[in-house]
Amino acid sequence: MKPEHHCDCVILGGGPAGLTAAIYAARAKLSAVILESNITGGLVNSTYSVENFPSYPSIHGMELMRRMRAHVDGLGVPVEEVCAVERLDLAGKVKTAETDEAVYRAPAVILATGRKPVALETPTECDQVHHCAICDGAPYAGKRVLVAGGGNSAFDESLYLLSLGVAHVTLIEVMPRFFAAAAAQEALFASGKAQGHTETRLVDLEVTGDRLTAALLENTATGETWREPVDGVFAFLGQIPNNALFAEQIELTKAGYIPAAVDMATSLPGVFAAGDIVDKPFRQITTAVADGTVAALSAERFLRGR
Ligand SMILES: Cc1cc2nc3c(=O)[nH]c(=O)nc-3n(C[C@H](O)[C@H](O)[C@H](O)COP(=O)(O)OP(=O)(O)OC[C@H]3O[C@@H](n4cnc5c(N)ncnc54)[C@H](O)[C@@H]3O)c2cc1C
Repeated sequence: MKPEHHCDCVILGGGPAGLTAAIYAARAKLSAVILESNITGGLVNSTYSVENFPSYPSIHGMELMRRMRAHVDGLGVPVEEVCAVERLDLAGKVKTAETDEAVYRAPAVILATGRKPVALETPTECDQVHHCAICDGAPYAGKRVLVAGGGNSAFDESLYLLSLGVAHVTLIEVMPRFFAAAAAQEALFASGKAQGHTETRLVDLEVTGDRLTAALLENTATGETWREPVDGVFAFLGQIPNNALFAEQIELTKAGYIPAAVDMATSLPGVFAAGDIVDKPFRQITTAVADGTVAALSAERFLRGR
């Protein structure tokens, strides 16, 4: 039998939204627990430089999240990391989250599971395909990489790869233009170490032994194909919501996001949502922490009203 834990509020996800919800829950004297499938910090862990979080003109993403986590620890909220929730039951007055090691029961749940990068799919697979330059970029110093995607993430991460000493970046975008901010585009192409191709798609990877040797590319407008020698691929193709655990239980938009009310309530009583998983126009750390604040305070009000 797995051990059972009872508390006021289970928080799923330990990114900025979940950590902030924990801070507000603790200060409202709720007993809470964070269940995090990976390590705390969320997407910000893979952001090199955060330059829009008030109080820090520039801070490394991991450092910001280390401080947020320390704040939570200081308030005594338990955090279970690398903890896979196998079953989540949001119906009824007491909700249940069952992990591989324990069962958590609480009358309130905050869903703060965020998003994950869209995976690059190619007929040939290899270990040199990545989705995070901070995590995996260092071994590519002096080497050539392909970056798939033409938005802000693709350009920012390409600049970061160059700062690590990557010799050359080939950046491809399937649409007729890049969508990143003009300043990021200018900075990347002014480096002299990057080449961009619009209307271009990755057809396949050429792998020799267990090593990536080239990317096979196609210009979708002309049909021209060519072989681009590269040692690694970094894909920044957008994000999809982490909703698999509760997709069958609460109302979601067509795109899979939670349509939360102004108090972050979802379609189920006692279930609140916060952060990037919410259907909203702007997904930033500041909007995630704002959602986490509102979700925890609303959970407290919900529990007090019972
Ligand atoms: C490349 C990149 C750069 C960015 N740069 C900036 C920036 O400079 N400034 C800025 O303000 N914003 C930036 N953002 C946006 C910012 O990272 C997000 O808005 C913010 O992280 C959202 O926080 P969150 O807590 O909602 O989600 P996340 O940060 O995604 O955290 C969600 C957490 O939930 C966990 N989780 C997922 N599923 C489960 C589950 N089933 N059970 C338990 N845990 C689960 C995940 O492991 C993760 O830790 C950037 C995003 C990207 C991708």
